[in-house]
Amino acid sequence: MERTFIAIKPDGVQRGLVGEIIRRFEAKGFTLVGLKMMQVSRELAEKHYDVHRERPFFPSLVAFITSGPVVAMVWEGDGVVAAARKMIGATNPLSAEPGTIRGDFGISIGRNLIHGSDAIETAQREIALWFTPEELVAWRPAVQPWLVES
Ligand code: UDP
Ligand code: MG
Repeated sequence: MERTFIAIKPDGVQRGLVGEIIRRFEAKGFTLVGLKMMQVSRELAEKHYDVHRERPFFPSLVAFITSGPVVAMVWEGDGVVAAARKMIGATNPLSAEPGTIRGDFGISIGRNLIHGSDAIETAQREIALWFTPEELVAWRPAVQPWLVES
């Protein structure tokens, strides 16, 4: 089953949007299989954003993501990687469509509330980076037949 890595960044936690963001993924019908709050180390932040290492915003991005608690999650469901990116919206919240998380709650690219894996392979790498296998819980919601045609 497809899985994606989602992180509520320090601004989302500080602004009290943890419940609202989790609510949206739950209401959509995806399954939460991993969840933890953590203070991100510089080492983890730099590994997570390794593809952006040479970009000018890299130092401020690492400083921001390590500046306060983050809520790290793994969500499961067919098509969850691409669907989560749609629910999150464009990187710049001012360009993100209303109805998306960034479009509804943000105004600045450096404070865009949430991270979501951009592809299935990226999701696999990020899940392995943030979670141990024991921290992930495989379970079938009882409502599954009412969400997915068998
Ligand atoms: N970012 C930034 N300034 C930029 C571009 C990106 O601060 O000009 C930050 C922003 O927090 C973004 C993250 O770097 O979410 C990773 O950038 P990416 O292009 O991967 O955006 P995302 O996949 O998060 O939409
Ligand atoms: Mg990205």
